[in-house]
Amino acid sequence: MNDLIIKQGKLINGDLIDIVINDGKITAIGPAAAVGLPSIKEIDLHGHYYVSAGWIDAHTHCYPQSPLYYDDPDLIGAACGVTTVVDAGSTGADDIDDFYAVTRKAKTHVYAFLNIARTGICSQNELADLTRIDNIRLQDAVRRHKGFVIGLKARMSKSVVGKNGLQPLIKAKAMQKENRLPLMVHIGSPPPRLEEIADLLTKGDIITHCFNGKPNRILDEAGNLKLIIQRALARGVILDVGHGTESLSFSIAEQAIKFGAHPHMISSDIYQRNRVDGPVHSLATVMTKFLNMGLSPEYILNCVTINAANLLHLPRKGRLERGGDGDITIFDLKNQRIELVDAEGQIRIGTQQFIPIAAIIAGVHIVVAENAAAKNMSAENMPVKNSATGRRIINGIPL
Ligand SMILES: [Zn+2]
Repeated sequence: MNDLIIKQGKLINGDLIDIVINDGKITAIGPAAAVGLPSIKEIDLHGHYYVSAGWIDAHTHCYPQSPLYYDDPDLIGAACGVTTVVDAGSTGADDIDDFYAVTRKAKTHVYAFLNIARTGICSQNELADLTRIDNIRLQDAVRRHKGFVIGLKARMSKSVVGKNGLQPLIKAKAMQKENRLPLMVHIGSPPPRLEEIADLLTKGDIITHCFNGKPNRILDEAGNLKLIIQRALARGVILDVGHGTESLSFSIAEQAIKFGAHPHMISSDIYQRNRVDGPVHSLATVMTKFLNMGLSPEYILNCVTINAANLLHLPRKGRLERGGDGDITIFDLKNQRIELVDAEGQIRIGTQQFIPIAAIIAGVHIVVAENAAAKNMSAENMPVKNSATGRRIINGIPL
C-alpha cells in the first residue's frame, strides 16, 4: 500500500505523469507509474492541472516573534502552494533556537539564513553596532543548527549599517569562509555603494533585491547593466528577486531582462504586511509578474525549484525524480487579465497567471483554500479522495 498517488498531473511541457510518494519521498514517477497501484490517498488530476517540484521561496520573513518583519511559515508557505520557505535573516545567534522550535510545528519546510548580527532584525539598523557581529556566537549557532541554517545574511544598506560602510560585509565574508555557507546580501540605499559591495562578492553569493529601483540599482544612468554587475555575474554571483515592500521595479527588471540579466532565483521577501496589503501577496503573484515581463513559465518554475535547490544546497528538493523529497506544487496557468503593481506603484496589465491549487509537503496534501474555492474546487469537489474509504481529504485531514 502506497502513502499517496498523484495521477495524470500535467508537466509544464504538456506531458502527463503519475507520482507515487512513500515515507515523504518520491518512490516512482513516470507516464503510467501509478497504474494498478493501491494507495491510502489518491489525487487524480485528469490532466487538468500542472504539477512541478514543490516551490521554494528563497527570501521570506516568517519568525512570528520578530518585531518588524514577521509572519507564520504556513501562511506564506503551504497556504500559497509553496512547500519550502527560507527565512532571510530575521533571526541571529540570539534567537535562532526559538525560531527553530517554532518551525518544527509548521507543515511547510523552513530553513534559515542566519543574520550576521546576533540580534537578527530586532530593529531596522541591526548592523549599525559592530559589536553585534559576534563570530563565536555565530559559529556556535551554525553548528547547533546544521541543516537548518543554510546560509548567512548581511543587509548592506545605509539604514541598516549606519556609519559602518563595508565593515559588516568584510566581516561576513570572513565568517562565511569558515562556514562554507552561501551569503545573501541585501542591497538598498547607499552607502555603501553597489559598486563596492559587488566587488567583494564571490561565486555563489546572492544579491537579493536585485531589481530594486533605489540608487543602488544594477543599471547605470544610461540604463545599461553596470560593469561591476556584469563582472559579478561572470564570477558566478547570483541574482535573487526579493520583491518585498520596496524592492521590485518593473522598469528596472524589464530593462535588465532585456540585457540578459535574468534572475537566478525568484523570491518574494514576503511578510505579513506586504502579504495582506501588497504589493507582494504571494510567491505566485511575484512569479506572475515575471511571466508578464516575458520570462517563460519553464524558466520561472526553474527559478523556484531546481535553481533555488541547487543554489541553496538542498539536493533532494526542486526536482521531480525518484528518491527526491515528496514535495509537489499543483497549480494552474490561467489566461486571464490581472492588474500587477510593483514596489513603486507602477502598474502592468498581465494576461496570464500562476494559480497555486495545492501543496504536497513530504507527502501531506494541503489545499490552497482560496484558489480551490475560486476555481470551484471547494472541499466537496477538490479531486482528492481516500481510496481506502472514499472520503475526501482536505488539509491532510480526512473529512
Ligand atoms: Zn528581506
